Amino acid sequence: MKWEPIWNITHRYLYCRCVLRRSTPSSLCPEITILINHRCPRHSRKVATHADYGDVDYHQDPYFDQFGGYNAFRAMVYSIFPDMYDKALGGYAFIPEKELRGVLDDSISAIDRLGETFEDAVHEYMYDVFEDADRMGIPLPDYALEIIRVSREQTQESKMQDSLVHPDAFKDFLECPMMQEVEDILHGRWSRKRHWAVANC
Ligand SMILES: [Zn+2]
Repeated sequence: MKWEPIWNITHRYLYCRCVLRRSTPSSLCPEITILINHRCPRHSRKVATHADYGDVDYHQDPYFDQFGGYNAFRAMVYSIFPDMYDKALGGYAFIPEKELRGVLDDSISAIDRLGETFEDAVHEYMYDVFEDADRMGIPLPDYALEIIRVSREQTQESKMQDSLVHPDAFKDFLECPMMQEVEDILHGRWSRKRHWAVANC
């Protein structure tokens, strides 16, 4: 069995949500996001030189609509996770100093505009970050553990519908060309030029 990219499957870096890989440049189908905790070549204190799909204008990226736009997303990260902004995302590499004021203003207008949608998106972002930290054995404060617990309960309820998926499907998924390409990107064995050459065959 082979997995073909018939959906808009997009791999994004966990913290900054830059695009690591995407199966199609089309934004016509809703995106299925897979998060990867790895160094982003644009937003990292450590050296990360691998090529990826991240050189896009995130202000035009529909993924950030749930946060009210890319500026509101960045402001959310800056406000809720200041340590992550400073240490993991390169500080001004994530929000340049001269943009900071405008970015924070956009966040306030997004909260007013989106209300609950914004809150849900922020809650999900926090869950993704905390859950990853928890899996890595990093001690978390009580409120973070509570976010994980509540979200896991909700996921458990929706999992009832997925129980008909054959267990082998997950193994096939990890071995599919898409996931192998993600590995190639992260290990520097990939370039955009090569990708398009393959895609055009
Ligand atoms: Zn990034």
